Amino acid sequence: MLLVQKYGGTSVGDLERINNVAKRVLETKKPQDRVVIVVSAMSGETDKLLGYALHFDPLPDPREVDMILSSGERVTSALLAIALQTLGHKAISLSGRNAGIFTDSYHTKAHIEHIDTQRILQLLDEGQIVIVAGFQGVNEKGDVTTLGRGGSDLSAVALAGALKADLCEIYTDVEGVFTTDPRIEPNAKKIDKISYDEMLELASMGAKVLLNRSVELAKKLDVKLVTRSTFSDNPGTLITKEEDIMEQPIISGIALDKNQARVSIAEVEDRPGIAAEIFGTLAEANINVDMIVQTIGYDGKTDLDFTIPKTELELAKSVLKSFKGSFAQIEYDDNIAKVSIVGVGMKSHTGIASKVFTTFANEQINIMMISTSEIKISVLIDLQYAELAIRSMHSAFELDK
Ligand code: ADP
Ligand code: ASP
Ligand code: MG
Repeated sequence: MLLVQKYGGTSVGDLERINNVAKRVLETKKPQDRVVIVVSAMSGETDKLLGYALHFDPLPDPREVDMILSSGERVTSALLAIALQTLGHKAISLSGRNAGIFTDSYHTKAHIEHIDTQRILQLLDEGQIVIVAGFQGVNEKGDVTTLGRGGSDLSAVALAGALKADLCEIYTDVEGVFTTDPRIEPNAKKIDKISYDEMLELASMGAKVLLNRSVELAKKLDVKLVTRSTFSDNPGTLITKEEDIMEQPIISGIALDKNQARVSIAEVEDRPGIAAEIFGTLAEANINVDMIVQTIGYDGKTDLDFTIPKTELELAKSVLKSFKGSFAQIEYDDNIAKVSIVGVGMKSHTGIASKVFTTFANEQINIMMISTSEIKISVLIDLQYAELAIRSMHSAFELDK
């Protein structure tokens, strides 16, 4: 079997844990298995490194940020290689560049364009366990890039796809994918199997157990994906095709995203093209806009509300300056949370939305924005009610049963 295993930040959080990962790899590896391991930085390390960069400038040069951030993963990859060597197995660490991971040049959120697997395959043939620093690649200039926060999941799936691995295992600090974040709702239940599409919605809506882009890629490349715990032997959650799941619940899970900020622009000129200009400018700055609400115009003016990632707030403030004069007022609010309920059963069941709104009404939680897709309903609320909202929805939809 060719296995790609990814160990997240908590799993490699200190030297003892790195050593435990090395032991676990050797205990579970069969002699004929070929193993590629992707590692994250030790937990807290990426935040610490980012803090260093922000110390000098709230909008630091993204190329330099990538130089700094990519170092975290390289440290763990080499430490794990040394730990495995000490336990008597051949092992070698590779940076993203060494591993042949080529990306575009969008520093701090680069996309993988292709992977040249030649070196990894050769090292596997030599009997090495190959450890790849996650979260990074190299652009056409040879500069190091990073893939966006949580990007080691993407490194693992992309490598599994390129290497045609039999299985991609994402090892983390929970036993798998739950009906909601088990740290918020202790009654959350582990899901044995979930479809790519539902997992993609949950991940996109804030369930950080898997990076959404990694799920999307796993679906596209048909990668068999499992999330499971580094700290137990339980089997975890299989993410697979919808048709491979016999019994589909109506609702699979609830996700919470606290990393969004709301931009409210009051009294924008209500004329054709204004939305294209505003959102075009944001897109040019590579800012991801999520929920959008535009009110019906009055007196040639309209109000426009939308959400963006909190981390892009400073950038948004700076690019939106060019629209000064086209609106009366602009407000930014990062005390918000987005709660989303996801399930393929929504396609064929009615009444889900009204149950969501009734649950919020019963808890006296005000809804600021709503957005829906075929298998998801998202609502934007005040941050202080986020956890209450998760728990009341979890019990209203009987996900604890
Ligand atoms: P890693 O560092 O291993 O990549 P992350 O912190 O990125 O781990 O993701 C794991 C965390 O995701 C868990 O500790 C849990 O709090 C959170 N999480 C959020 N939603 C879910 C969910 N539905 N199921 C499982 N974990 C979830
Ligand atoms: N270390 C990076 C982060 O914290 C990437 C990852 O862990 O997946 O975002
Ligand atoms: Mg993660």
